[in-house]
Amino acid sequence: MPAAVVTGSSRGIGRAIALRFAEDGYDVAVNYHTSAERADRVAEAVRERGSEAVAVGADVSDPEAAADLVESAVEAFGGVDHLVNNAGIDQHVYTEDLDPADFDRIMDVNVNSAFNATKAALPHLRDSADGPSVTNVSSILAHTGAPIECHYASSKGALVSLTRSHALDFAPEIRVNSVAPGHVETDMTADRTPDEKREEMAAIPVDRFGRPEEIADAVAYLRDAGFVTGETLNVNGGEDMR
Ligand code: NAP
Repeated sequence: MPAAVVTGSSRGIGRAIALRFAEDGYDVAVNYHTSAERADRVAEAVRERGSEAVAVGADVSDPEAAADLVESAVEAFGGVDHLVNNAGIDQHVYTEDLDPADFDRIMDVNVNSAFNATKAALPHLRDSADGPSVTNVSSILAHTGAPIECHYASSKGALVSLTRSHALDFAPEIRVNSVAPGHVETDMTADRTPDEKREEMAAIPVDRFGRPEEIADAVAYLRDAGFVTGETLNVNGGEDMR
């Protein structure tokens, strides 16, 4: 059975991606940083769908930990066919108050982690007979920019650029794409007041936040889309038109 590594898959969008891969017949390495129990539950849900799973604790912003994550998947499944770089963190703070160490941390977790995991997975992806792919989870903010989270928006812009660069680097064997979600119902967007949420929804033509499974649909499409590489697929309910 082919295998996937999904970083940051203990909850939210990563969890939905891990379960979608399981439903599509892939073994899955479920990665977490702090949520061990939740990752174990995701791994169990993968097994309930008929696939194998390992839950691996690794801070993927650390190159050695990212390499250990990939090696755990190789040990468990014999290889890695697809990598989804989903792990990410956000922080809302004005530039005047933004500590350079926090800027670096956002970059480490959102960008360097994708580089780390991709570099570690590369030899295994090259060995894959499953039409291997890397999918990076960016954000609508990569294109629009954002107030009070310049470091987050910049990190997501960097992921789009990393996607295109790696698509060129690894062609023709490995396709590299990105998904750029708009607002999605996860812990990351759970801090809104009802008023804030109404205001944000007013800018979304479909009049709601997205569901994690709708981002997983886009990742599954890119995994299977043999003629698509270097692309960023916007999944935002039309928000980028406003
Ligand atoms: P979430 O619910 O906050 O989940 C974040 C996930 O990333 C968790 O599984 C967390 O693991 C993991 N993670 C964080 N730091 C990590 C690290 N250093 N190493 C390994 N894993 C780490 O977030 P989400 O909303 O599902 O977001 C997933 C991705 O989509 C992120 O890249 C985010 O930027 C992007 N995105 C989200 C939205 C949205 O509206 N929700 C919109 C656009 C883009 P632990 O729980 O174990 O710490």
